[in-house]
Amino acid sequence: MTTPLGPGPEFDRIRRIAGELGNSSADLGDDAAVIPDGDGSLVVSTDASVEGVHFRREWLTLEEIGWRAAAAALSDLAAMGARPVGVLAALAVPQSASADDPSLVMRGVGAAAAATGARVIGGDLTAAASWVVTVTVIGRTANPIRRTGARPGDVLWVTGALGGSRAALTAWKRGATPADDARAAFAHPLPRIDAGRWLAEHGAHAMLDLSDGLAADAHHLAAASAVRLDIDLSRVPVAGPAVVPSLAASVEPPIFAAQGGEDYELLVALPDRFAERDIRAFEAATGLALTSVGSVHRGSGVRFLLRGERVSLEGFDHFR
Ligand SMILES: [Mg+2]
Repeated sequence: MTTPLGPGPEFDRIRRIAGELGNSSADLGDDAAVIPDGDGSLVVSTDASVEGVHFRREWLTLEEIGWRAAAAALSDLAAMGARPVGVLAALAVPQSASADDPSLVMRGVGAAAAATGARVIGGDLTAAASWVVTVTVIGRTANPIRRTGARPGDVLWVTGALGGSRAALTAWKRGATPADDARAAFAHPLPRIDAGRWLAEHGAHAMLDLSDGLAADAHHLAAASAVRLDIDLSRVPVAGPAVVPSLAASVEPPIFAAQGGEDYELLVALPDRFAERDIRAFEAATGLALTSVGSVHRGSGVRFLLRGERVSLEGFDHFR
């Protein structure tokens, strides 16, 4: 069975692939695949990071390229509430790279793995026209949190703050140097493993990570759970480095933040009994903010509201 995805040309292609695979596929469409194993489950996901698409060589060191690729893949384990166990990395390396360069990329992959309690357990090395770092991650959990479990009456929450990564991208794309905190958000994202596990243990109904931005990813949660989401943009936590570039671009900061991808924060649907006391416990356990941004209703799709007005938002799509 395939979990429904939100709209967009990238996801139309994924739907076609799922149709092509038919009975030779299973369990597509969530952040990661779940394989029952003993009294728990293995959780597996894979993610490609491509030079010229996800990053440019002049923006990042090789170590940062490796960290970022691994962090993006590990973030999908966070979104399932899983504990990372192993990381495999397939490197496509340009002919112009030095003999030491693949090791530098893997230093970053290894650091991201170690930061989440996992180890590098394999990989592949090939020559190519440009850098591609494809990271496969394996985790474990007794209680995987899928995208399908949001229910009418739930409250939507976001970890951390959004828009920092987009702030860096905006600066680079106009030939400027991003502020240090914006650059760090892009180059060194932290997969929210502890937050994902805490939320899984405290009643999360559904969860996903914000890789394409809240504006795009919220649609996946709505589609997967067959519900409507109402998101109040004025409540979206805006990352500090996103404020100045959003105003410079004449975009309201919460809209800039909601449309910024690659923050790798979590969007989670929690039962409405989740209260102030629980928020404080989450913040004490993880060091992260947890902000309510909306609510779950009967119906379909996502309504973005700003000061009571409907706002139409598009997130990032590789094929738009
Ligand atoms: Mg994901």
